[in-house]
Amino acid sequence: MSPSPLTDFSRLCVHTITTKPWVIEEAMDRYAAADVGGITVWRQWLEGRDPESIGEKLRSRNLEIVSLCRGGFFPSDSDAGLAAAIEDNRAAIREAAALGAPMIVLVCGAVPGQPLEDSRKQIADGIAAVVPLAEEHGIRLAIEPLHPMYADDRSAINTLASANEVCDRLDHPLVGIAADVYHIWWDPDLADQIRITGEKDRLFAFHVCDWKTPTSDFLNDRGLMGEGCIDIPGIRALVEAAGFSGFNEVEIFSDRWWAQDQDHFLTEIKKAYLEHC
Ligand code: ZN
Repeated sequence: MSPSPLTDFSRLCVHTITTKPWVIEEAMDRYAAADVGGITVWRQWLEGRDPESIGEKLRSRNLEIVSLCRGGFFPSDSDAGLAAAIEDNRAAIREAAALGAPMIVLVCGAVPGQPLEDSRKQIADGIAAVVPLAEEHGIRLAIEPLHPMYADDRSAINTLASANEVCDRLDHPLVGIAADVYHIWWDPDLADQIRITGEKDRLFAFHVCDWKTPTSDFLNDRGLMGEGCIDIPGIRALVEAAGFSGFNEVEIFSDRWWAQDQDHFLTEIKKAYLEHC
């Protein structure tokens, strides 16, 4: 299945982590100059900044703020840890509101050695605890299932089906899913689960990068679109068939690309976006 080709950058969103060497002010100027349509701001980029004024600057450059990345990490083996996680997620919601971001991406968390089922319950309980504040500010919460290789310490939610279960449990219009090709491309239930996610009006975000063979580092060796084996256009066709019409968010963790000139990298991202998304 191939989707209609992308011909401009109006639906291209870049995550600030993708161009990690750039601070937020540099990133916004370069993205705007490159005609990038949207930006997802990672929370570290707001450290020492006033989120409200950063939000104004982003809007004045015609960059749509797609989301704030990231909340989550709810599971803990102590009550104090569980409470701290909820407080941190409330802080993220307030930051998103000040920035003017309509959505927070949740990397849900896990505790090594703790049964994944226990972590999943803590995740559902944690999200439920912060939903009232999200409601107050109208912020959507997007659960991002992570590839199972991260099930030890980054997320106990590893498939779209598992994310859908948590969403079913919470049954709230502000709680949905961020689909990232890096994490879900291998899933034999991919097509069905994307369709179900769309039918339930909870497909909130779509992230792209590529899976390199071989991959030298499972966190920081992600590929630019076209460098790996993921059928990105095929997955984009599925999410669009499921009703998704939002941004295609480029989120690449790569020591290799971060070591290069970031203006060159941004040019390559734009090229890859048109050719391989
Ligand atoms: Zn992602």
